[in-house]
Amino acid sequence: MAKESRLPKQSEDFPAWYNQVVRQAGMAENGLVKGTMIIKPHGFAIWEYVQRALDDRFKATGHENVYFPLLFPMKLFEAEADHVEGFAPEVAVVTHGGGQKLEEPLAIRPTSEAVIWDTYSRWVQSYRDLPLLYNQWCNVLRWEMRTRLFLRTSEFLWQEGHTAHATKQEAWEETLRMTEVYREVVEDVCAIPVIIGRKSDAERFPGADETVTLEGMMRDTKALQSATSHFLGQNFSRAYNVQFLNREGVQEYAWGTSWGLSTRVVGGVVMTHGDDRGLRLPYHVAPVQVVIVPIYKTDEEAATVLERAESIKADLVGNSIRARVDDRDQYRPGYKFSEWELKGVPIRLEIGPRDVAADEVVVADRVTGGKNSRSTTDAVAAMPGLLKDGWQALYDDALAFREANTHEITSFDDMREGIEAEGGFWVGAWCSDPVCEEKVSGATKATIRTLPLDKVDPGGACVVCGRPGDERATWARAY
Ligand SMILES: [Zn+2]
Repeated sequence: MAKESRLPKQSEDFPAWYNQVVRQAGMAENGLVKGTMIIKPHGFAIWEYVQRALDDRFKATGHENVYFPLLFPMKLFEAEADHVEGFAPEVAVVTHGGGQKLEEPLAIRPTSEAVIWDTYSRWVQSYRDLPLLYNQWCNVLRWEMRTRLFLRTSEFLWQEGHTAHATKQEAWEETLRMTEVYREVVEDVCAIPVIIGRKSDAERFPGADETVTLEGMMRDTKALQSATSHFLGQNFSRAYNVQFLNREGVQEYAWGTSWGLSTRVVGGVVMTHGDDRGLRLPYHVAPVQVVIVPIYKTDEEAATVLERAESIKADLVGNSIRARVDDRDQYRPGYKFSEWELKGVPIRLEIGPRDVAADEVVVADRVTGGKNSRSTTDAVAAMPGLLKDGWQALYDDALAFREANTHEITSFDDMREGIEAEGGFWVGAWCSDPVCEEKVSGATKATIRTLPLDKVDPGGACVVCGRPGDERATWARAY
């Protein structure tokens, strides 16, 4: 399967670049049914590292994992009016099974609030039963028309947390606690800087009182919602009758949250850090952190070089670094270099017979593009630091890029022309009227990505209507 990879340039055709990187790096391809995705080893391994980082943090903040069924009666879904209205166009319904028409149609979960809150009504009786702090790792299905690998597919993998609390205060704190967990994983692990804020009514999760979002800027200056944490108020406890006897002996409805992060974030890693040569992976999520490429001509050289390569690998693995020796015989070193660059491996070590004799290796850094010779001992000892520096460089690059592409709105026309010409994030005052919000999205295809978590001075009049500003909104075109 030798193939010379050729990527379109990001600056010329970003969507084509994205599709080619995902395919050529062995991350994913389309399934047989439109909108479905086959996740390949390199893509799945990145997801597993994200998963692990999240799951450890869920457990550390007191959550437990559970699993609920993929199917539930369609009528269960219909109890929460906003929720069903928001999701109805995307729900797939099973009408036949075992060769017969079912008596009752079944929904394939597009999200699990309905089945979980229905269950909570049987689990919660007293304040002593609260809080419920549960998460599930699963797949969900949402009938999507316009799909793109990882970013928007009809079936995707995610986690969904669903918690129930005795007080509003506790539920709001939980919403923010999980926002911070997401921030750690998206920023500190995936090196994607995010802006955190609330969604407008129009953009909010159907059935939530408040949605907190984390938005990153991709290298085409569009926004990607990386994760959301929802404060559900008592909407679902009322719809599914989740009541408890409080300390004073009075019946109350429980307060809820839900929060999710999906395989979409893998697409976010690609689009935040990738360049014209392919992926650039932060080491936390890199399936291979250091690849060692042996260079030799004769069998004798091969024996010496491979022995050294294996010994360096053993030292790196001993330092908890994911290292691999690429000893495939059928490819030349140059081919291997491009392939590992395409796959985004943070550090490549090259070793030839002369390096073995001098007790040196060549260290090539995927993020900075730097390349130099170091003594073997020094290279091994420096590796944890180099990996961290690579993470930092990716984060700093992405942050500088976002700052350079964030604009203060001076007028509606200026914003409209600016978004058309250069995209980016546009920040300015909004009166909170959905009519103005629609006017902007109609004219620019940009939506409100975030409103500050705590309201701030909007900094002037609404950029659309000129009435007094109420919120300081960040607008952008988004995935
Ligand atoms: Zn307005």
